[in-house]
Amino acid sequence: MNPQSPASLPADAPWIVMKFGGTSVATLSRWQNILELVASRRAEGARVLVVVSALTGVTDALKQLCAQGEPGKRSEAAKAIAQRHYDLLDHMQLAMPDTLGERLADLAKLAHEGAAALGELAWQAQVQAHGELMSSALGAAFLSHSGLPTQWLDARDCLAAIALPNQNERTRLLSSMVDTKADPALNARLAALGEVFITQGFIAREAKGRTVLLGRGGSDTSAAYFGALLKAQRVEIWTDVAGMFTANPRQVPGARLLQRLDYEEAQEIASTGAKVLHPRCLSPLREPRVPLLIKDTNRPELDGTVIGPEVRAHAPSVKAISARKGITLVSMESVGMWQQVGFLADVFAHFKQHGLSVDLIGSAETNVTVSLDPTENLLDSDAIAALATDLAKVCRVKVIAPCAAITLVGRGMRSLLHTLSGVLAEFGQLRVHMISQSSNNLNLTFVVDEEVVDTLLPHLHELLIAAGALRTDDSALFGPSWQALYGSGESPAPAAAWWHESQRPRLLEIAAQATPRYVYHLPTVRHQARELKRLAAVDRLHYAVKANTHPAILKALAEEGFGFECVSPGEVKAVMAAVPSSAPLLFTPNFAPREDYAWALSTRSTVSLDSLYPLEHWGELFRGREIVLRVDLGRGLGHHEKVRTGGSGSKFGLPVEQIDAFLRLADTHGVIVRGLHAHLGSGILDDAHWGEVYAQLASLAERIGSVSFLDIGGGLGVPSHPGEAPLDIAELDRVLREVKAAYPQYQLWMEPGRYLVADAGVLLARVTQQKGKGTLRYLGLDTGMNSLIRPALYDAWHEIVNLSRLDEPATALYQVVGPICESGDVLGTDRRLPEAREGDVMLIAQAGAYGKVMSSHYNLRDEADEVVIE
Ligand code: ADP
Ligand code: ASP
Ligand code: MG
Repeated sequence: MNPQSPASLPADAPWIVMKFGGTSVATLSRWQNILELVASRRAEGARVLVVVSALTGVTDALKQLCAQGEPGKRSEAAKAIAQRHYDLLDHMQLAMPDTLGERLADLAKLAHEGAAALGELAWQAQVQAHGELMSSALGAAFLSHSGLPTQWLDARDCLAAIALPNQNERTRLLSSMVDTKADPALNARLAALGEVFITQGFIAREAKGRTVLLGRGGSDTSAAYFGALLKAQRVEIWTDVAGMFTANPRQVPGARLLQRLDYEEAQEIASTGAKVLHPRCLSPLREPRVPLLIKDTNRPELDGTVIGPEVRAHAPSVKAISARKGITLVSMESVGMWQQVGFLADVFAHFKQHGLSVDLIGSAETNVTVSLDPTENLLDSDAIAALATDLAKVCRVKVIAPCAAITLVGRGMRSLLHTLSGVLAEFGQLRVHMISQSSNNLNLTFVVDEEVVDTLLPHLHELLIAAGALRTDDSALFGPSWQALYGSGESPAPAAAWWHESQRPRLLEIAAQATPRYVYHLPTVRHQARELKRLAAVDRLHYAVKANTHPAILKALAEEGFGFECVSPGEVKAVMAAVPSSAPLLFTPNFAPREDYAWALSTRSTVSLDSLYPLEHWGELFRGREIVLRVDLGRGLGHHEKVRTGGSGSKFGLPVEQIDAFLRLADTHGVIVRGLHAHLGSGILDDAHWGEVYAQLASLAERIGSVSFLDIGGGLGVPSHPGEAPLDIAELDRVLREVKAAYPQYQLWMEPGRYLVADAGVLLARVTQQKGKGTLRYLGLDTGMNSLIRPALYDAWHEIVNLSRLDEPATALYQVVGPICESGDVLGTDRRLPEAREGDVMLIAQAGAYGKVMSSHYNLRDEADEVVIE
C-alpha cells in the first residue's frame, strides 16, 4: 500500500482517536495493520490520534521490576524489557530512533536508582509509564518510516490528572482520573502541529508535575479522554476480539457479538467484568456524545460493537453475563446495629480512610456485608488487614476471599425475573454469599466462591439463551457467536430445522390456497429418525404418537422400523389403521378407565400400569399377563414445570416405595412385570440424564427379577432458541453404552416424540391487522392459540418468520397475536421482523410436535388443516 497523505487537511477537520491495545502493538504484522488502518482514516479526511498500550506483558514486567529489592535484579529486568523492543525493531528493520533510545536509558537509570529520590509510589508510576512511552516511540518511528508522517506526542502534556478529595496517595498516583475540561485549546494546538499523532495510553500528569497512571487497562480511558478533549468524531478501540460479547468469549465460545449498545449498558458490562473496555472509559464520552467502536486489529473486516448515546427500542433482554474474580467480601456483625444511629457512617469511614471503595452492599438486622472490587481498589493484603483491624473496634469482622461476582446485565432486569428460574436454580446449588440488584435496574449480581466460575459461566450462558432471557433471536442486537467468527465455522443450527428456507416457494403456494395450515416435511422426520438410529445401545425405538398422529408420519416412521407408544385407545386405533401389523405397540395410559385396559389387552399392545389401583380393583383383567410398570424416580426434568412428569408434584408413575406392594399384588394375580419404564419430562437437552435414569431402572430391575427390558422414556429435546446447542447423539450413545456394559441382561427401549417431528412441521398463517398500543406494536394473524397453544400454555418459544418478506431487514418489533378472545392468545412476544402488511404469510416454526394434536375449536374458529410434503 501507499499511505501517502493527500492534500493537507483544513483546520476544522474532524478527529478520530484510534487506540491499539497490548497485543495489537506487539508484532510487526499488527503494526502493518495499524499503518493501513490509520492511513485509511486519514484518507477519509480526518486527523488521527493513535493511542497505544505497552507491548503485551510489558506493564506486568515493569510491575515485577518495581517489586525487586536489589538494584542488580532490577537492572536485569530492565534489560529483558529493552530486549523485547530491540527484537521488534529488528523485525521492522528499523534503526534505533533517538526517542526510544532515550526512554531505554531513562528506564535503565530508574531501575538502577530505585525509589529513593522520587518516593515509592511516584517512582512506580514513573517506571510503569515507560511501557507506553517506549511502544509509542517505536510506533512513531515505524509509521513515519513507512511513509505516514506521524508526530510523537507526550500524553502527559495533554492529560491533567485531578486530585479528588477522597483519593489517597496510592490511588492518586496509580489509578488517577483526568479533567476533560482542562484544555479547550488542545484541538487547535495539535491541528497546527500536524495530521497524524501517536501518544501513550495509561499515563497523565498531576499538578505537582509527577507522572501518574490511570489504573490497569487504563489506555482505553486515555483514548476516551482524548476523544472528549478533541470532540472527536469517534473513538475506536482496536483489540484482539471483534467487540463486546455477551460473555468473555475466551470462557464462553458461544458468546454472541453485541452489535450496538448504549453507553449505560456498555458501562455496566464493562464495570461488571468485561475486560475489553476499561470501566472508566465511557463516562468521559457521554456528555460530548462521542461514539465508541470496538474492533479487532487482526480482523478489521468484522463489524465490531458500536457504543453510542441512542437507546434503541428492543425486546427486554439480558445483554451479557460477566464475572469479576478476586472479589473480597467484608462481613460486619453487630448486635442491633439498625438501632445505633450512625453505625454505617462509622463503618464506612474506615473504608474511606483506607482508600477502599465499596461496591456491593447487603444488609440484615445484625449484619452488613460489602464487597471490594479489585478493579476499583488497589487491593493488597496489607490494606485489607489494616482495614479489618480498624473495623474490629466497632464490630465483628470476617473477610471472605477469594470470591467472584457473576452479573447479569440488561436494561429492565426486574421485568426479566420470571425468565430466570433455571438460572436461579443453578445458583441454588452453590454457596451464594450475596445477591444484589442494582438500583438502576441494569444488573443482578451473585457473589460465589471464585473456584466455581470457570465451569459455571458457559453453563449459565446456555441457560439464559434456552430460557429466552438472552434474546439471541434479535439480530439487530446480537451478532454471530465468537465460535462462528473465529472457530471452526460450524453451523450452530441443525440442518433439519431450516428446510423451510429451501421450500419457501412451495410453502407460499400452499398458503395461497388456504390458511391457517400445518405443513409437514417428511424428509425431516426421516432425518431425525435416522439420527436416533445411530444410538447403538438402544434395542427398540418407539415413536410417542401423541406428538403428531398424522398417518403419513406414522407410516414414515414404521418404514424406519419404529414401534409406537400410545396413550389412549384412539391413538392405538390411529396407529393400527396406518401401519403394518408387525410394528410393536405400547399402551401407556394414565388414570385411564377399566374399559381402556380391557380393550388394549385385546389388541397386540404391551400394556403398562403406573399405580396400584388397577391390580387392587381389576386384578382379574390382568391375570396371566406380562405388563410394564411405570415408576416415578422422584424427580422431574424439562423445559417447563407443566412438562415435568416425575416427582410427587406429578400424577405419573408409581412411587418407588410402592414397588413392593405392587409386586405382591402382581404375584396374587399371576401378573409378570416384564418391563420397567420411567419418563421424567420433555425437552431435555442434557445427555447425561438418560444414563442416570437407565442405571436407576436397571438397579430396580435387579430387585424385581422378571424384568427383561427397560424403557427410559423420551423427552429428547430439540433446540428452539437461536444459538442453543442441540443434543449430542454420539455423546448420548456413549453414556447409554456405558450403562449397558454394566447391565447387558436388559434390552433398552426409548420412546421419543418431539425429537422426531418438531422441526418437521410449520404452521402457516396470514397477517390480518396491526395495532399500536403505548410502546408496543401488535401484529395479528388469522390463527392463534386455537391452532398452537404451546406459547400460551408453556411460554414455549417458536421462531416466527415473515415468509413473504424473507429478504427484507427486520426493523419492526412485534407482539405476534391471534384472533382468539383471550389475552393469552400470543404466539410470540417482542419479535424483530420486517414491516408486515395485511395478507403476508407468516411461518411459525417447530410446530410439528404438539401443534395440531393440541388444537381446538375454541371461539368456533376453523381448525388448521394439514398438508404433507416430500
Ligand atoms: P487490550 O490489550 O487490547 O486492551 P484486553 O485484554 O484488555 O485487550 O481486552 C480484550 C479481552 O477482553 C478479550 O481478549 C477477552 O478475553 C476479554 N473479555 C472479557 N469479557 C469480554 C466480553 N464480554 N467481550 C469481549 N471481550 C471480553
Ligand atoms: N499497559 C497498561 C496495562 O497493561 C494499560 C493498558 O494496556 O490499557 O494495564
Ligand atoms: Mg485493555
